[in-house]
Amino acid sequence: MAKYTGPACRLCRREGTKLFLKGERCLTGKCAIERRRNAPGQHGAGNKMMREYGIQLREKQKARRYYGVLEGQFRSYFEMAEKQAGVTGENMLSLLERRLDNVVYRMGLAASRREARQMLRNDYFTLNGKKANIPSILVREGDVVTLKDDSKKLVRVKQLLDSMGDQTTPKWLNVDVANASATVVALPKREDVDFPFEEQLIVELYSK
Ligand code: SF4
Repeated sequence: MAKYTGPACRLCRREGTKLFLKGERCLTGKCAIERRRNAPGQHGAGNKMMREYGIQLREKQKARRYYGVLEGQFRSYFEMAEKQAGVTGENMLSLLERRLDNVVYRMGLAASRREARQMLRNDYFTLNGKKANIPSILVREGDVVTLKDDSKKLVRVKQLLDSMGDQTTPKWLNVDVANASATVVALPKREDVDFPFEEQLIVELYSK
């Protein structure tokens, strides 16, 4: 499946919920979902009876878009989760949370996962002191993600650094604002995911 390059707000409107894809704008009255909740397109309005498959599909799309992951990669997280001990849906969400772009976002150094991916691709960060420019890297317990000193001079990064520490960070990350770094102190659990996904629907969809 090709990478989506259209407006981010359209994805939220399609899913009928805020997916927080545009950073600060998502928290303001300019948010498209706050202004217009119906799905985009001429058939968006109105109450459609969704069949079971449709409901499962929408839940999967919601999670995929929330984390900014392409279909093939999303499915591979499901397959990895299935092989792990425990509950497949919870394992899958934990894997998604462990993505490096999500970590940069969660540590407060990007306003959205999309911005985090851009920053990573532009080589702003290190992982355990080494180059880390691949957003899909999965962090492990004990890993340290650090903003490079060179990156701290950039205007946008300075803005982000000023507000770093203002937001609540998940307990599986130990954020060091002074050094613009975060240590993974535990692997994320289901309760650390702050979006009300019904992950069982996704598991049912892929298990057909
Ligand atoms: Fe979604 Fe953010 Fe756009 Fe609102 S502003 S519709 S939350 S991307």
